[in-house]
Formats: sequence, structure tokens, C-alpha cells
Amino acid sequence: MNEAKFKDWGFPVGRMFLAAGPCSAESEEQILETARALAGHDVGFMRAGIWKPRTRPGSFEGVGLKGLAWMDRARTETGLKIGTEVAEPAHVEACLEYDVDILWIGARTSTNPFSVQAIADVLKGTDVPVLVKNPMTADIGLWVGAIERLANAGLTKIGAIHRGFASTMEMRYRNAPNWKMPIELNRHMPEIPLICDPSHICGKADLIHTIAQEAMDLLFDGLMVEVHPDPPSALSDAAQQLTPAQLISMVDSLELSREESDSPVFTDRLGRLRESVDELDGQLLELLGQRMDIVAEMGRLKAAQSVSTLQPHRWQEIVDDRVEKGRGLELSEGFVLQVMQSIHEEAIRRQEADRVEGAE
Ligand code: PEP
Ligand code: MN
Repeated sequence: MNEAKFKDWGFPVGRMFLAAGPCSAESEEQILETARALAGHDVGFMRAGIWKPRTRPGSFEGVGLKGLAWMDRARTETGLKIGTEVAEPAHVEACLEYDVDILWIGARTSTNPFSVQAIADVLKGTDVPVLVKNPMTADIGLWVGAIERLANAGLTKIGAIHRGFASTMEMRYRNAPNWKMPIELNRHMPEIPLICDPSHICGKADLIHTIAQEAMDLLFDGLMVEVHPDPPSALSDAAQQLTPAQLISMVDSLELSREESDSPVFTDRLGRLRESVDELDGQLLELLGQRMDIVAEMGRLKAAQSVSTLQPHRWQEIVDDRVEKGRGLELSEGFVLQVMQSIHEEAIRRQEADRVEGAE
């Protein structure tokens, strides 16, 4: 999609745009060792967190300014470009002093418009590339808004990082991938390059390949992956870091997708399948329209009898029944639930709107 942009911005791009490096800069040795292992592998930039935003106080909070000096040294020695996370204006100022090649705004910071605006204000007048991680919660407006704040400050090299979303659901991942969010971001802002951070989505090293492959299948422009010379001894995010060698072989093993193919057989077959999907979508929408008309009629009946719009028992019956029917059609419970919740929400909205209108 947009990976050429990274090249235009002066970053090396190999099979894809690749940012790699430790969660945190821990020692000069660790930074130099990582940089030496990554050099020569088309790494776009080496990442390392200097100021670590930790959910709870008392965990390792980063080495601060001296980490920038280590990274600068690694850059001089290996030629790698360097990038780090900024969360407040003082961080940006320090990075500008060290001429850091690229900055990113973390998930805890992109959640807060005040912080993003303060960062945008100090970046005004520069053209440093900045990547914006999605906010912790699945709020597309906040993510788009953070990017807009940077663009309004005059920055032109802005990208986005998908790092998954906090969730209370039990799941295999540390953060829910919720792929529809980055897809939505791309729909809103197709010109913004988008990379995936499988490390923070997965939370575990052995899951990273699966998510990285999924990101490639969804046409992401690249990856940001945490690597550490000795992951078990990492001071933060130990379970999710790969060694540099594991990263290189993981990236080599990824299958890259393209948006189009010139095979006529493929194009023809896909075209026909798309027609079927279009047709079915039309039928689905028509059925939904019919269903809503009936729901509206039910709403008028309920209103006339002063019966509540929400009927909890009926709703529970619908959920149980549709989930069961879905199971027979190989539709997952989560999916059926989500669809039914959306339909139910719209039905309630329609009935309530009619009620308010009727009462006026
Ligand atoms: C990080 O990149 O190390 C980090 C803290 O990530 P996030 O902001 O995605 O939690
Ligand atoms: Mn991390």
C-alpha cells in the first residue's frame, strides 16, 4: 500500500519496512549488540524505549537520556537509523537534540489528546517522521485525531502502528488484534503508512509469526518487532521479545501478499465470486430493512400498550436461539453475538425514535 513512503522518507526497506529493537534500552552493551546483529538486514530503524510508560509504578521505567547517547553511538557504528517513544515535550526536545531519525507515540499517550497536542506543538516547524500507535481502547476517532493533530502542526511524515487493544476478554493474545480498527484507519486515511506491532499484540514470542503473517495478508506496510540479544533477561516485556536471529528468519519466512494478480483465470474467478458476494449483501440489506419495518410495527404496538421497548427475556431467547443456529452454519458465537447486538441496538433506536416522535 504505502511502504514506498518509508523509502521516500530515507529509511531502508527490504521485503517490507521493518523496525526492530529491544522494548527498552538497558545498557550500552545491549544496544550495541542488538544494533550489530541487525545491521545489514534492511532494518528501517532500530527501536528502543528510553522512557517507559508502565501501567504500574515501580517496574523498570527506562534509562532516560543516557539511552539516547547509546543509540546515537550504535547509529554511528552500524549506520542503522534509530527511533524511540516520546510521551511529553521534554522527550521530543531531547530527541531533536540527538537528531533521532523517527519518533513514535505510544498507546498510553495516543489515548490522551492533551499529551498528543503538547507533542505536536513542540514538533511544529520540524519534519521529523512520527508513528502513532493506536490508543489502548478501540476508539478510531482518538487514533485518527492524534494523527490529525500532528498533521495540523505541519508534519508530513506520519505513519500509524497497530499494536492491538486492551480487552477484558480471556484470549490467547495480550492485546486483541481487532483487525477491523486498522482497516478502518486505512479507510479514513489511505495515505498514512500502517505497520503492525505483533510483539505487543501477542505478548508471547511464539505467537508473533502468526500475527505478522496476518498483517502481511492484510497488506500492512511493515512491522515493528521487539528483539533482545537475551530475551529472558529483558527488563521489560521479556516474554514477547525475539532474538535478532529469530527475527530475521521469521521475516524471511513470511509470505507477502499483493493487492492484485495479473493471472486472467484468477481475476475471472475472483470477479465472479465478488458478484455473488455483492448479490448476497444486497439480499442481506433488504432482509434487514424488512426486519426493521416489522420491528417498527412492534414498537408502535408496545407504545400503544405502554410496554417497555426492551424485553430482556425475549432478547435472551433471541441470543440463545441465533447463536445455536449460527453454530450449525459454522458461524462463531462471537460473530453471531456481535451481529445480533448491532441489529438489536438499531431496532431499539428505531423503536425509541418512533416513541419520541409519537409523543410529540
Ligand atoms: C513499546 O513499544 O515498548 C510500548 C510501550 O508499546 P505500547 O505503547 O504499544 O504499549
Ligand atoms: Mn514493549
